Amino acid sequence: MTTSSQDAEVIVVGAGPAGSTVATYLARAGVDVLLLEKTVFPREKVCGDGLTPRGVKQLIDLGIDVSPEAGWVHSRGLRILTGELTLELDWPELSSYPPFGVARTRQDFDDLLAKTAVKAGARLLERTTVTGAITDERTGRVIGVNAKTGEDKRPVSYRAPLVLACDGVSARLALSVGIDKHEKRPMGVAVRRYYRSPRHDDPFIEGHLELWDRSDPRRPKLLPGYGWAFPLGDGTVNVGLGMLSTSKAFRSTDYRALLRQWLDGTPEEWGYREENAVGKVGGAGLPMGFNRTPHYRDGLLLLGDAGGMVSPFNGEGISAAMESAQLAAEFVVQALARPEGPSREKALHGYPLAVADLMGGYYRLGNVFAKLIGKPAVMRAATKYGLRINRILPLVYKGLSGCYDAKGGDLVDRLIAAAARATPSPR
Ligand SMILES: Cc1cc2nc3c(=O)[nH]c(=O)nc-3n(C[C@H](O)[C@H](O)[C@H](O)COP(=O)(O)OP(=O)(O)OC[C@H]3O[C@@H](n4cnc5c(N)ncnc54)[C@H](O)[C@@H]3O)c2cc1C
Repeated sequence: MTTSSQDAEVIVVGAGPAGSTVATYLARAGVDVLLLEKTVFPREKVCGDGLTPRGVKQLIDLGIDVSPEAGWVHSRGLRILTGELTLELDWPELSSYPPFGVARTRQDFDDLLAKTAVKAGARLLERTTVTGAITDERTGRVIGVNAKTGEDKRPVSYRAPLVLACDGVSARLALSVGIDKHEKRPMGVAVRRYYRSPRHDDPFIEGHLELWDRSDPRRPKLLPGYGWAFPLGDGTVNVGLGMLSTSKAFRSTDYRALLRQWLDGTPEEWGYREENAVGKVGGAGLPMGFNRTPHYRDGLLLLGDAGGMVSPFNGEGISAAMESAQLAAEFVVQALARPEGPSREKALHGYPLAVADLMGGYYRLGNVFAKLIGKPAVMRAATKYGLRINRILPLVYKGLSGCYDAKGGDLVDRLIAAAARATPSPR
């Protein structure tokens, strides 16, 4: 129950996938939630717009209709392309995840999730930028947030016993209480652009493991980074590329120029040319492998990108944001049912443990993977030889996409699950 000195039982900062998902679950459980968002929906968000089956499961859990009739473009699998090889792999049949992925522009997607939260009962305040946490001087505990709201950016403050940081890669809220990022953990940068293309209804999403500059056809040059093409079914394809901080070229690269160089060398008929481009090139950082922890401290929980939860294996962050939201809601509901004090704290400390249990070991393996593929020689050997070994393909495929059954499953699932379990989570 919200008391007279409080504005809500829980304040959620940021209405991206993490924020809107957690707000929905909390509101459905009867919690009074204030959801603060700096932008106004519908709004663009730079992203690849693609969800693997792991992300689709989260939408289904939320009760969202994921049928094509409801506007979702389905993918049946992943096409992997290297300089010499093209592989088409259907999404695996698993008990945990559906056998299809989806794509939808974030303009639509985030709007839909925010509306779902409002429908569940969360109070959404748009055009409200949180500038930092309010802490109790005596205990150091987070008891609210300062913000600027409306067109005139009027200073306001909101109070609640619990605050959830879902403000994405900028992590302004976490930074305001001194939770910095771990510089040694990987970070990614990615850029993307929309193109009108006949490939817009391709049933496969594409991962390009080698990017070639073919401006001189006699001397094709291997470029750093990895690319994707996610068909959106509306005449356009979301095409982009990313690079990891473990790569030497990470800081010195002009990503927009790199995208142009790569796409100019792709077949003309794919349509990835300037005259077919829709909108500008957009780019942003990808905080990976738990690069910001602790995920709970003194009344503040970190979810999604704010907690560095993008997968170091594939750059996917929406599913992890929504998974962390599902877990956070579970522990927050339990905590609020207890009196303030040690018992409530015990419940809240369950959240980082549950997040670590779900993705920590897998992400630590991912951090090692990111270090390895940051070395061009290792990456070349892996794409040249590794992908030709049919027997290890399912391991590579399920391992990289995070689509495996953590319990039960086939031998490959059990192998990945055992490796993830045996590897301690980054703290
Ligand atoms: C180029 C690119 C391509 C990507 N492609 C994919 C992909 O295809 N699939 C995938 O799964 N992931 C992809 N990702 C990663 C994905 O975008 C993120 O992991 C995901 O959006 C994280 O969700 P989130 O809710 O944690 O944060 P966000 O989606 O960043 O949401 C944060 C929200 O908080 C709001 N906010 C920020 N600061 C404040 C503040 N101070 N006050 C109030 N509100 C605030 C923002 O406006 C936003 O609405 C990509 C990322 C990039 C950069």
